[in-house]
Amino acid sequence: MSNGRKINLHNHTYYCRHGSGNVADYMYWAEKENITVLAFSEHVPLPDEVLLRSRLRIETLPFLWKEMEDASAAYPGIKLLRALEGEYIPEFMNFQKELKEAHKLDFMIASNHYIWLDGHDNKFPSVTDRGALKIVAEQSIALIESGLGIFFAHPDLFFALGCPWSDEAKAVSKDIIECAKAHKLPLEINAYGLRKDMITDADGVTRPRYPKREFWELAAEIGGIEVVCNSDAHTPSAIWRGVPECMAWAAELDLPVVNERLAREILTK
Ligand SMILES: [Zn+2]
Ligand SMILES: [Zn+2]
Repeated sequence: MSNGRKINLHNHTYYCRHGSGNVADYMYWAEKENITVLAFSEHVPLPDEVLLRSRLRIETLPFLWKEMEDASAAYPGIKLLRALEGEYIPEFMNFQKELKEAHKLDFMIASNHYIWLDGHDNKFPSVTDRGALKIVAEQSIALIESGLGIFFAHPDLFFALGCPWSDEAKAVSKDIIECAKAHKLPLEINAYGLRKDMITDADGVTRPRYPKREFWELAAEIGGIEVVCNSDAHTPSAIWRGVPECMAWAAELDLPVVNERLAREILTK
């Protein structure tokens, strides 16, 4: 089961403050790459400008929606979806769900980019840190169980800063995969990590920061996991870059790619 049409459910524009390109710039590349469904999924804006460095202000959202409406009129052959990339921050889970309704989003993505403790973001571990990994597992599970997103983006992002494939990291991966399986939540093989500089991890292994190959081999071994493959573009020319490699991993590991099914469910809602 492969993704026949090119459907990319995860992208950022200059509104995220760490990317480039506006919606029109993306449409140029979407047409060039024959993409049929494209979601814009900025990092969710949060109250009181929390984590503003990596996201837009709430009052800026209508400007993004207007850019998308104009682009839809100019490119009727490309379906655009309104999305936001949400976070596991216990105090803002209801806020995010309300934002989804208020802004008539097509969907939300569930993501963890940090370890969230006492109202602050903390980095993922660069070594096998039992304490930190335990929290990664707990917060990933809480995010899946929250029902916030229609898929869990880069569930293996906690390997990005150098944590090796240790017994502890494997146990965390297993907990995340089994929870996603129990909740039938697709996991995202995210191409952005393939476009970043490689990292030499604490075991001396030089590898992409993510996706972490062993995580996906474990998902295949456990079985019953569906995946989505997205670019997570932060610049328009990267709109499809790395996605074929992610799909090749999914095919090799017999992990069904469900971008098309998710898009159909959203568009027929
Ligand atoms: Zn992300
Ligand atoms: Zn993203």
